[in-house]
Amino acid sequence: MLRLPVYLDNNATTCCDPRVVEAMLPYFSQHYGNAASHTHSFGWMAEEAVDIARKQVASLIHADATEIVFTSGATESDNLAIKGVFENYAAKGNHIVTVATEHKAVLDSCRHIEKKGGSVTYLQVNSDGLIDLDELKKNILPSTVLIAVMYANNETGVIQPIQAISAIAREAGVLFFCDAAQAVGKINVDVINDGIDLLSISAHKMYGPKGVGVLYVSRKKPRVTLTAQMDGGGHERNKRSGTLNVPAIVGFGKACELCEKEMPDESKRLEAMRNRLEKVLIDQTDATVNGNLQHRLPHVTNLSFKGTTANNIMMRINSKLAVSSGSACTSALPEPSYVLKAMCLDDALANASLRFALGRFTTDEEIDFAIQEISNTVKMLREDF
Ligand SMILES: *Cc1c(COP(=O)(O)O)cnc(C)c1O
Repeated sequence: MLRLPVYLDNNATTCCDPRVVEAMLPYFSQHYGNAASHTHSFGWMAEEAVDIARKQVASLIHADATEIVFTSGATESDNLAIKGVFENYAAKGNHIVTVATEHKAVLDSCRHIEKKGGSVTYLQVNSDGLIDLDELKKNILPSTVLIAVMYANNETGVIQPIQAISAIAREAGVLFFCDAAQAVGKINVDVINDGIDLLSISAHKMYGPKGVGVLYVSRKKPRVTLTAQMDGGGHERNKRSGTLNVPAIVGFGKACELCEKEMPDESKRLEAMRNRLEKVLIDQTDATVNGNLQHRLPHVTNLSFKGTTANNIMMRINSKLAVSSGSACTSALPEPSYVLKAMCLDDALANASLRFALGRFTTDEEIDFAIQEISNTVKMLREDF
């Protein structure tokens, strides 16, 4: 039996995997020690659990455990990376290069930098969502201290040419920060091969709990240093003070272990379902895909349904189908998505777009249902016009 509503909004957040919840449970009321308490076994138990989780996260991205800084999520990681590098490398320069289609956590951190006297270049993207590498090269200045480009976009799933970007950053002697909240756990992310110096992850985007994330900070080639944005106690190698959220960190570690094991099969399964959803909707409704077709996350499609609006579709289906128009953070606003606008979509097509993000618990039956609901609704709305 199909349980309604069907959830196809896995880029906004994912279901916490029951195996993750099970791993977390003992750390609430049994092993409730403070990981910073070094004088008794409660503290040792907590510290040991955090150490294991640190290794599990590090393993997934091919980092060393000492390079993992636990935070409250990718928003905090993005803030720490951008503001932390900007403040710490002030003697070198005050310029940052980023992209117009980044997540608000990156863009708003950059706006903050501009208010503090920094200068930021916002690269435009091509109509397929990819950046132009020559544009990137041209915009690096002697004063550039950081290049911030996301791994995969939350609205379209478009994957940027990460290795080419890091090669350009290396050659220019500029640090490369990558918001990989949508990529880690879904596709292979390898901070060494990919040449990434700082990287953000969020547990709740990969079947872990909400309110916990990581900033990877390279300690070798190069050794990156940061100005802490949270003071008090010197936790996490002085990069992020505050008592560690041990149950959430344990769950995050378990989520990483599961993704590392299941990613190859899971991504194939989801890609086949995504392709079927996309193909049938294109056949039946003449939908158009937003974003590059080759360089894209396997479980995401962003479609525009010409002659309709996403709001009108959602009003009719939101009791049965959970999808998103624009990103979750901006969908309360009536404005067209800034990501789609940056890809030169006109307002009407941007306002007629829906994001479908499949996940670990998505079934073929649910995809059949989604196809039928969307297809019928789009046809009905077009008849009304
Ligand atoms: C979800 C998301 C974030 C924010 O992560 P939180 O852990 O919810 O703060 C940042 N960047 C991208 C690309 C995201 O998808």
